[in-house]
Amino acid sequence: MPRLVVVSNRVADPRKTAAGGLAVALGEALNATGGLWFGWSGNIVERTEAGAQGQTQLHVQRAGDVTLATVDLSREDHDAYYLGYSNGVLWPVFHYRLDLADFDAGYIGGYRRVNRMFAQQLLPLLRPDDVIWVHDYHLIPLAEELRTLGCRQRIGFFLHIPVPPPLIMAAIPAHEWLIRALFAYDLLGLQSQTDLSHFARYVYTEAQAEQVADGRFNAFGRQLQVQAFPIGIDVDEFAALAEGREAQETLATMREQYAKRRLLVGVDRLDYSKGLPQRLRAMRSLLQRYPGNCNSATLIQIASPSRETVGAYNDLRRQLEGLCGSINGNFGELDWMPIRYIHRTVARKRLPGLYRASRVALVTPLRDGMNLVAKEFIAAQDPADPGVLVLSRFAGAAEQLRDALLVNPYDSDGTADAIQHALHMPLEERQVRHERLLANIREFDVHWWQRSFLEALRQS
Ligand code: ADP
Repeated sequence: MPRLVVVSNRVADPRKTAAGGLAVALGEALNATGGLWFGWSGNIVERTEAGAQGQTQLHVQRAGDVTLATVDLSREDHDAYYLGYSNGVLWPVFHYRLDLADFDAGYIGGYRRVNRMFAQQLLPLLRPDDVIWVHDYHLIPLAEELRTLGCRQRIGFFLHIPVPPPLIMAAIPAHEWLIRALFAYDLLGLQSQTDLSHFARYVYTEAQAEQVADGRFNAFGRQLQVQAFPIGIDVDEFAALAEGREAQETLATMREQYAKRRLLVGVDRLDYSKGLPQRLRAMRSLLQRYPGNCNSATLIQIASPSRETVGAYNDLRRQLEGLCGSINGNFGELDWMPIRYIHRTVARKRLPGLYRASRVALVTPLRDGMNLVAKEFIAAQDPADPGVLVLSRFAGAAEQLRDALLVNPYDSDGTADAIQHALHMPLEERQVRHERLLANIREFDVHWWQRSFLEALRQS
């Protein structure tokens, strides 16, 4: 079997369980071929250390049979490539937020420079029959840069975030360059059929593409295979985590503290794509429309700190604090608050306990490539007495998880109605829905995702 080379912005040691399902699944594929994982080290070094060309030292480490190779970034490159272009332009636009994109700051130069530097550092490490799998929006032009240096190996790309409709994509000043760069890959993997249809419409209208076979597009003088591979979680690993000591402790504490209440849970990175203010407004609407929930329903909202140096994230944080204060102030009692908002990361081992203690999960992003929290919540439930998933129709996961209660997160009254339905759903209906959801996430788990992408790449 050819050696697998994975390239992603960050590299994880796949042997550590804290790494999560994606790292484990990629680690499994890397282990099978004695593979190489390449990316940024996470270190930022001074420009003088990085050298005039931005060339930094390569760090090589072994993790079992896998080689981890990483490079540092200079402050200037990190700020332009990572904070600037990746998270200040591509992230907002691909999540339909043109209003939050900063096109004028000139970040694109740093984005190209870092992708070129990655290609230069990676090239000497490659063997002629390697298969290369590149991940996510930070690295769109990597294959193009590798091809320019003479790389002929098979290269696949998986985009973890959504593809916006063509006219939103076309607002990026360099959109043609980005899409042309994708055609340097042999295979493009997307999260959903919606993403696939947006991509197809873009290349038909903006690049005069032809579809030469199912999912095979001809444009810019090249051919590209495009397919949807919805990413999953490692269901067994997560179910095992639910049986662990930390999860059981968390479950027991939650059950004791909320014995007389109905618990709802939200777990997200603090990001404007997650629809957190809209979720809080839906909770307010729930309390207004269904006052029986006062003194009873409590939402524990965990929002982990994220990209705090990007301006839009601080504005969001302040907005959330204001909303929580006003809802708790208006509805709270001496011994009950409707919202417990915690701006922190919860240990991964404790998450399944929190999910299992909750009657309802609110997973209501305004736009999300997939959303793995929805799948983790399902995996952590007790099949005999499962909780209910309230899921945004705008999460990639909604294409698969049809047995969740699907909502429009912009409609706070409609979402409140769905939450009320979830809180009062009879046991039998909860069991039937959960059984179907669990069967789906088991069939399309992260191992399926990894195997089917690599199989398609080998055949592309
Ligand atoms: P995104 O990749 O946009 O953050 P996903 O839902 O696809 O969203 O994946 C998020 C992952 O991060 C999940 O595995 C989830 O358990 C974890 N996570 C998100 N927020 C938190 C938090 N506050 N504490 C602990 N883990 C979190």
